[in-house]
Amino acid sequence: MNTMKRCCTNELQLKHLKRELQVLLQQLQSDLDAERVEQRQEMSQLNRTEVLDRGEASSVVGLQQTSLSRIKQLEEEINECQNALERIEAGRYGYCEQCGEEIELNRLMANPTAVLCVRCQSKDELQRNGRSIKL
Ligand SMILES: [Zn+2]
Repeated sequence: MNTMKRCCTNELQLKHLKRELQVLLQQLQSDLDAERVEQRQEMSQLNRTEVLDRGEASSVVGLQQTSLSRIKQLEEEINECQNALERIEAGRYGYCEQCGEEIELNRLMANPTAVLCVRCQSKDELQRNGRSIKL
């Protein structure tokens, strides 16, 4: 018995979102590849730091940290995309991971990788902000 109702996210919209996610995933993966190539170049530059003066060397290190965090971010986004595609396949897409309610369609259209409904998301963000304020 299927207890899940599909009133908002119909087949057509689901197909559209799936397509969006696949395009997004491809884009992210090519971004990641480009970023990795760039990072390798920076690494090889870093290995030659003895020929650079102090100022140049530290700017290369700075660049490398930027590209490392960019790579990490891309990997996370790719992960989110893959998760969303898996949820579509499993028929669990479009439901909040916390309360199980349907996620608003407008929200999914704007952010196809959303896993929380607006209510849970804002609760989550409030908690996060609360934590960072204490720091
Ligand atoms: Zn929720």
